Amino acid sequence: MKKLTDIGEVKRALERHGIVLSKGLGQNFLINPTVCPRMAEYCGADDSTGVLEIGPGIGVLTVELAKLAKRVVAIELDERLKPLLEENLEPYPNAQVVWGDAMKLNLPALIEEHFSDCRRVVVCANLPYYITSPIIMMLLEQRLPIESITVMVQKEAAERMCAPVGSRESGAVTVAVHYHSVPSVLFSVSAGSFLPAPKVDSAVMKLEVLQQPPVDAGDEKQFRRLIKAGFSQRRKTLLNAVSAGGFSKEAAAAALDEMGLPRTARLEQLTLEQLAHLNRCLS
Ligand code: SAM
Repeated sequence: MKKLTDIGEVKRALERHGIVLSKGLGQNFLINPTVCPRMAEYCGADDSTGVLEIGPGIGVLTVELAKLAKRVVAIELDERLKPLLEENLEPYPNAQVVWGDAMKLNLPALIEEHFSDCRRVVVCANLPYYITSPIIMMLLEQRLPIESITVMVQKEAAERMCAPVGSRESGAVTVAVHYHSVPSVLFSVSAGSFLPAPKVDSAVMKLEVLQQPPVDAGDEKQFRRLIKAGFSQRRKTLLNAVSAGGFSKEAAAAALDEMGLPRTARLEQLTLEQLAHLNRCLS
């Protein structure tokens, strides 16, 4: 294919290969020519950077990354795209596809295998929206040796993840994002930039991954359990939600008193510092 953002050309190429885009796999392909070069620029790819992409589709972002990076490794689940993707990546010997499910592959091993000669590794992707949060949680919680994650997600999801912990929009993923990174929303992308157009607008956000969490939460496994318990029962008070999650109500009440918070507080109202303190008190 000559132009990967030419809607007519993309449609004809898909037809030629008998591919009907799958809603279930979140296949909304970018056809706005300005977006991928900007994403490649923002992710900081240069000739010493290895880039991990998830979901290359027909390679529209992959080729922009390959122009700047030392190496690009793109994980794609849908093998129907193989002939098209291979054809489009042929001029870029520094881009390689790994076929498989990004949620199931051994990413530490993959990074070690492909990027050991790169000065740094970043993630850059237009994520399949049906698994945006699980992918981001998985990338962050595995503590992969990556410097940043620059991804396109639904606009609302970007705003939720980047909202301050303790604000109305925040959720469990917001806490994980702020515990492991410094997030920011970079720019919005209209629904019309995709084939087919999704129902909602999108946004590109960047997470600068932290080497050390900004707070001392103590037992991290317990912290994840606490956040999950608290946010899955958002309407309950913190005390009722955590005791339903198997934690001590008395210890939680003592922690609230100590922090000067009312006993009617809900978990979503606590800052990251306060959540970390609560978790240490529940240990
Ligand atoms: N990067 C392309 C673009 O910007 O036009 C395609 C992005 S599209 C939103 C998401 C891509 O992720 C699709 O190509 C889809 O097949 C792929 N995908 C879906 N689930 C996946 C998974 N679990 N692992 C790897 N790729 C996946």
